[in-house]
Amino acid sequence: AEGSTHTLMATVSQYACQRRTTTENNNKIFTDAFEVLAESYEFNEIEGRCLAFRRAASMLKSLPRAVRCLGEMQDLPCLGEHTKAVMEEILQCGCSFEVKKLLSDERYQTFKLFTSVFGVGPKTADKWHRRGLRSFSDILADRSIHLNRMQQSGFLHYGDISRAVSKAEARSLRNIIDGAARAITPAAILALTGGFSRGKEFGHDVDFIVTTPELGREESLLPEVIDGLKKQGILLYCDYHASTFDVAKLPIRRFEAMDHFAKCFLILRLEGSRVEGGLNSAEGDGRGWRAVRVDLVSPPMDHYAFALLGWTGSRQFERDLRRFAGAKRGMLLDNHALYDKTKNEFLAAETEKDIFAHLGLEYIEPWQRNA
Ligand code: ATP
Ligand code: MN
Ligand code: MN
Repeated sequence: AEGSTHTLMATVSQYACQRRTTTENNNKIFTDAFEVLAESYEFNEIEGRCLAFRRAASMLKSLPRAVRCLGEMQDLPCLGEHTKAVMEEILQCGCSFEVKKLLSDERYQTFKLFTSVFGVGPKTADKWHRRGLRSFSDILADRSIHLNRMQQSGFLHYGDISRAVSKAEARSLRNIIDGAARAITPAAILALTGGFSRGKEFGHDVDFIVTTPELGREESLLPEVIDGLKKQGILLYCDYHASTFDVAKLPIRRFEAMDHFAKCFLILRLEGSRVEGGLNSAEGDGRGWRAVRVDLVSPPMDHYAFALLGWTGSRQFERDLRRFAGAKRGMLLDNHALYDKTKNEFLAAETEKDIFAHLGLEYIEPWQRNA
């Protein structure tokens, strides 16, 4: 037992970018509990604690087997008093009282429901909750509530887009986007990113990079692809963001949630995807199509590797890559570039491997980035 304990702990890094995390999770009983706690802190805008639970969950996901006793926790990174106490309770009682209490908490449940709508974040959920609204029918019946375009689409397609997207559906979408991009320029480059590129079986959306080797051409490519989808009659919703990317403004020193590349958040109509009832069965039954969320990003080719690394995820992997770059290497990494602050220079990269090499990190395959 001593030996196996040792192999569990010996070399676990506090940085997700120094761990290999597949989709196999041997510590789901703990990470599910942590996710509820993290979410609850997120709803209450207690960012530090939220991150602490996400970081702990991410570390546990990388372990080759389940944590079985208190002693095994001592040498693991990313675990604080609170996370350890929750794990201890789960080991002893099979579940956490704190998590159980949250799951039946009215505020938590309402936030969970409201934020499950596309376009609704914790701020909007809080606003609606404070107005005494508790259900979708409460919201839709309240004439004083203004829903933006994104939220309207979120409610309209709720049943479909809250249902997981399968690998087969991701493949069909790839063909559709590929066809649309190739019709514009045969040189178009399409790459799957996000969860499906990490080998996940299901996703909440499908993410692609679509660009062209011709520098500058990528900016107009995306609107043309969108236009093509519209002409096919499959564009149900489009939130397009034109590029605000400017090499002269790099490096970006403060953290920004969105990168500056041209991108769009879409809802597409996917034919031949039978919908079986579900939450909003009126929307689905007997149609032979479903609505599905698709994200497209269009970086200029000379920043392709950074965009690919940034959009492949997971979010925790990305956070730790940036944290590692800053803390361990004195570098600034984001979706656009890698900047060496000690040498005062940008480090160019053609592939993701180049970026890992610049950072002095062993290469981690996309399917090992499910942190
Ligand atoms: P899921 O299967 O649930 O979709 P996912 O890992 O694909 O999981 P996404 O939310 O689709 O999750 O995000 C994929 C990647 O794209 C993440 O690494 C995230 O950092 C990046 N990303 C998502 N939205 C943006 C954005 N607006 N700007 C920049 N990067 C983004
Ligand atoms: Mn995704
Ligand atoms: Mn996405």
